[in-house]
Amino acid sequence: MAKAKWPGLSLCVCVGASLGAAATLLLPASPDQTKPKSFLAAVFTPSEEELQTAIENDLSNIQLAVRRVATAALDATKTVTIRAGDTMSDVLQRAGIDRGVTLNIIEAVKQVYNPRRLQSGQALTLNFIDDPHTDDRHLGEMTFELSPGESVAVERTDDGTYNARKIVAETHRELTRYDGSISSSLAAATAEAGVPHKILDDMVKMFSYDVDFQRDIQEGDAFSVMFERVVTADGRVVSTGAIRVASMTLSGSPLKLYAFKDADGNVDFYNEKGEGVRKALLRTPINGARLTSGFGMRQHPILGYSKMHEGIDFGAPTGTPVFAAGDGVIEKREIFGGYGNYVRIRHSSGYATAYAHLSRFGQNIQVGKRVRQEQIIGYVGTTGRSTGAHLHYEVLRDARQVNPMTVKFPSSEKLEGTTLARFKESRSTTDRQYAELAHPSSVAMIGPTREDSALR
Ligand SMILES: [Zn+2]
Repeated sequence: MAKAKWPGLSLCVCVGASLGAAATLLLPASPDQTKPKSFLAAVFTPSEEELQTAIENDLSNIQLAVRRVATAALDATKTVTIRAGDTMSDVLQRAGIDRGVTLNIIEAVKQVYNPRRLQSGQALTLNFIDDPHTDDRHLGEMTFELSPGESVAVERTDDGTYNARKIVAETHRELTRYDGSISSSLAAATAEAGVPHKILDDMVKMFSYDVDFQRDIQEGDAFSVMFERVVTADGRVVSTGAIRVASMTLSGSPLKLYAFKDADGNVDFYNEKGEGVRKALLRTPINGARLTSGFGMRQHPILGYSKMHEGIDFGAPTGTPVFAAGDGVIEKREIFGGYGNYVRIRHSSGYATAYAHLSRFGQNIQVGKRVRQEQIIGYVGTTGRSTGAHLHYEVLRDARQVNPMTVKFPSSEKLEGTTLARFKESRSTTDRQYAELAHPSSVAMIGPTREDSALR
């Protein structure tokens, strides 16, 4: 049900309220209340019987009048809902507006909005007014909402025509914070707390370098997030904006990430020390794959004996693109024994990554060439000693294989000097705002909508 937000509707509510009050004053006194009788008796001195009749007549007339006015007031505002397949004209005629007037109204609407874009479920609020001279009832105003904070109002003018205008509600930007504990997944926990979907998506992205959402989440973990949003004066959310800070507490250890705009104007997330969340290397250099075999000792599926598995396997269909885990230089690109089609990339700080069983190599992947993180270096296949399509992925540190799932990758970016100083300043402002919003779902106004967000 729409809240009272248009002048017409609020007015109507007021009329209803005062009518209620009037009715209380005028309507029949209960039998044991004799005051009205003696008052009338003092003025007219009629017989008891005449008095009784007069009172009854008056009361019934008053009751009738009150009922009539009250009904008119109740009927004056009508909300009609668009059903599937309805046009605006259907809805207006169903509400009792004649065809000619309906056409006039639609002509007026077309000046500001295409009425064909109305969708089923959308509501039109109609305010009727009675012509005091002719007793005719007209549509005085029609309003409908396009989105929170944006509506169309159509008003009848003195000469009986209609004018439409778009109304954009005044909005402001505010910060809001949500906290919650996790029992099964971050998605379930944020949904329960009422966190918008977009914010969940952003949280998953920003934490994905540090958190394995399938394996790291345990009952008793917690999340917290503070973000910007634009709201109308009556508190309705027009849009959800950027995350300022978010934290996840996994098995008791918190990881808090702050949004910060770097010297190049890019907004990214940093931990408390000013280290970028993006890592020099990706743990999962492939999209949409599932981990089918972990790092460590295992029974080899082909050789049949126990053997060290020096990488991890991701099951994915042949042809799925494989990305460079980080910036680097191609060190090997060849058919390499049991590895089949094989690519190895040398990265900074003594790291290398290797990709095996590829069906084919990526374009321009040649030994000595530079590659960027997430550039396609090849495609999933089952070449070499392999039982089915998968990517075998290895991370090497100083030429020794390490577990890609547990190795601590270096940050791709570490803030330094004046940028780090600026980050610390921004971090303490954020921390102060975050602390002020310590109660779940509380808000703090941070300024008018039009003023640029600090992060954009
Ligand atoms: Zn493998």
